Amino acid sequence: MNYVAIDKKHVWHPFTQELTAPDPILIKGAKGSILYKENGEEVLDLVSSWWVNIHGHANEKIVQALHKQAQTMEHVIFAGFTHKPAIELSQRLTKILPDKLERVFFSDNGSTAVEIALKLSLQYWFNKGQSNRKRIIAFNNSYHGDTFGAMSVAKESGFYEPFEDKLFHVDFINYPSTYMNDPNLEQTEEECLKEFTNLLDKTAQDTSAIILEPLIQGAGGMNMMTTNYLQKMVKIAKSYGILVIFDEVMVGFGRTGDIFACNKAKVEPDLICLSKGLTGGFLPMAITVATEEIYEAFLDEDFNRAFAHGHSFTANPLGCAVALASLDITLSDETQANLKRIEKLHRDRLEEASTLKNVEKVRLCGTVGALDVISTEQSGYTSPIGTKLKTYYWKHNIHLRPLGNVVYMLPPYCTTNDQLNKGWDVLLAGIKQL
Ligand SMILES: *Cc1c(COP(=O)(O)O)cnc(C)c1O
Repeated sequence: MNYVAIDKKHVWHPFTQELTAPDPILIKGAKGSILYKENGEEVLDLVSSWWVNIHGHANEKIVQALHKQAQTMEHVIFAGFTHKPAIELSQRLTKILPDKLERVFFSDNGSTAVEIALKLSLQYWFNKGQSNRKRIIAFNNSYHGDTFGAMSVAKESGFYEPFEDKLFHVDFINYPSTYMNDPNLEQTEEECLKEFTNLLDKTAQDTSAIILEPLIQGAGGMNMMTTNYLQKMVKIAKSYGILVIFDEVMVGFGRTGDIFACNKAKVEPDLICLSKGLTGGFLPMAITVATEEIYEAFLDEDFNRAFAHGHSFTANPLGCAVALASLDITLSDETQANLKRIEKLHRDRLEEASTLKNVEKVRLCGTVGALDVISTEQSGYTSPIGTKLKTYYWKHNIHLRPLGNVVYMLPPYCTTNDQLNKGWDVLLAGIKQL
């Protein structure tokens, strides 16, 4: 049977121009950092599937946790009912997260986690009698998902033209992007903080929250900021009394080298969104965690003050059981050592990359290494450079997925040094042959 032919007849793939895209690659299995093609070839997965698979594919401990939970209970409605996997997961995560983040609201994916954070921030002020606080601040080049609210807080990143008039107004500010040996760092941060303060001087009274991807902007181009900037920014936001929402959908669960970006920077957001790495890449699940103060603003005799929001699969027990198993692995000494090992290897190879004449802005945060390829062609997500590089990498059975002229590595934590070096060799060779 020609499965790819059937796929091409009936399937519609995400983020794909189906007319010009090459045939999808049929994958029959996956283990650790390797994807097995139908034809027997092995592909090295250096972007963790789609940034979700933190412990490698088909991890035995996670498989067992899933199997055990499936035999016990696959799902139960979460309104009026509860279950141990959700309770245990909430307890363990709130223990690791900053002190004030105490209340876990479950959903299904990164976009819903963001929608929930935005809705909670707006209803929080509404419930407190400050329904004028409707403005939201977000960063240029951010990505928060593909639902309408999530698109609204990221529309600067493009692709949203057909929906433009359906998106709500957001105040956008610049992200203080930096890189290794950045001579302009101080100036950039100063300017960005000033822009933020100026905006707040004018709008804070009517502002609900600021939402951001802390430390790394993912889809917007693996742009990185310093912990120093993050600390200052959060302090300013709090001094003006607005809520701070961290979208840690990509950076959560070890990506930045620490379990969460907020832990790494020692800052406390009022709301945090988590998804991708939450279940180790096994099942679609997300959480939005709020402070107790936010939660309390929803308590009332009147149902209208409650958060009337929910999804069919809220707190799916399979997802919770798998998330618990994944968390054990994330916190293990072995994984913690792997995070340091990967960061060190990335650093060495990025230094090498910085000597190439068509490479600039090499940058590193935890297990994410990134660089810009200099070219005269158009930049951005649809840059032809990105397509050329992707074709080269896939031909060499290395799964890398450049974001336009931005090439990055975001591997599962179990990836060995040999595998990483092989990936970097091909990554750099691809840039050299351009
Ligand atoms: C991927 C991503 C999202 C959206 O998550 P989905 O599960 O794809 O809906 C939101 N925010 C960030 C930072 C992401 O990287």
